[in-house]
Amino acid sequence: MQDGLLMGVDVGGTKIAAGLVTPDGEIRSQLKAPMISREGPALALAAVVSAIDSLYAQVKSPASIQGIGICAPGPLDPNTGVIVNPPNLPCWRDFPLSSEIAKKFGVSIKVDNDANAAALAEARWGAGRGYKNVFYASIGTGIGTGIILDGTIYHGRTGAAAEGGHVSIDYRGPRCGCGKLGCIEALAAGPAIALRARAHLRQDLGTDSAILELAHGDIEAVTSEMVGSAYATGDRMAKDILLETIDLLSVWIGNTIDLLEPDVILIGGGAATMLGPLFDEIRDRLPGYCVNSRCQEIPILKARYGADAGIAGGAALCSTTFTRAESLSALH
Ligand SMILES: [Zn+2]
Repeated sequence: MQDGLLMGVDVGGTKIAAGLVTPDGEIRSQLKAPMISREGPALALAAVVSAIDSLYAQVKSPASIQGIGICAPGPLDPNTGVIVNPPNLPCWRDFPLSSEIAKKFGVSIKVDNDANAAALAEARWGAGRGYKNVFYASIGTGIGTGIILDGTIYHGRTGAAAEGGHVSIDYRGPRCGCGKLGCIEALAAGPAIALRARAHLRQDLGTDSAILELAHGDIEAVTSEMVGSAYATGDRMAKDILLETIDLLSVWIGNTIDLLEPDVILIGGGAATMLGPLFDEIRDRLPGYCVNSRCQEIPILKARYGADAGIAGGAALCSTTFTRAESLSALH
């Protein structure tokens, strides 16, 4: 294993993914471990420490690791590395994760939320490379977003900025998990796509949609992944459902462009592959939802890192702005 590596650790409610990443963003090795999030702070910390230990065991000397970046669900304080009170991590309440990990390993530790970290990895090494201002959205079970301005994460006053998934586009819309009405997350993330598919199927009983076939005839079993698979085979209903989702996303992206006018918009997360063929449809709709007369010049691209976004994101948090030449020399 080469020297000069970054460690990215992605802590979720049920599992930890961790990996070694080169200073130019290549993931060299990775592992998954269970996260113990319901049995108190000490066991939860031990689970994370054990994942980090396993990665240290893969390098020639501990000095090979330049820093450890950890992404976790918010709310958290990226300035102090304190985990505040994430619903998915009941183990930690006002827990100083950063200093606890630093005590054990003696290297620089950074902590941030997963979407901010993934946005930074994309801006530094991924589809956002070469762009100054990047808006990143991860669309999966929820919608997480990150804003990179001039190459750094925009955190806002207390670190709570860039909650784009909870920007509402309909104050009379469905209630989101956060309590607000009409958040884009409640309208266009995976579960919302599945709900819309079920409504279509109920309305159109007797349809021969491939979605119903994939669910073995059980409307309640329909998932957003089935909509994606059906769409890939040319299913008409699946296309209608995804186009409705694209309409809603276009309103939201139009708002985002009017607010930020980023240089590029990146879409990642579990739904990015399914929605990717429809990005042009978003661009076509933007002039109707945006006052920016040059909104269609802004590229809408699929993010580079897929399921590994958390590992790359964690690593990006502790990377400095290496040039490629510098990173290559760091590997000797
Ligand atoms: Zn919300």
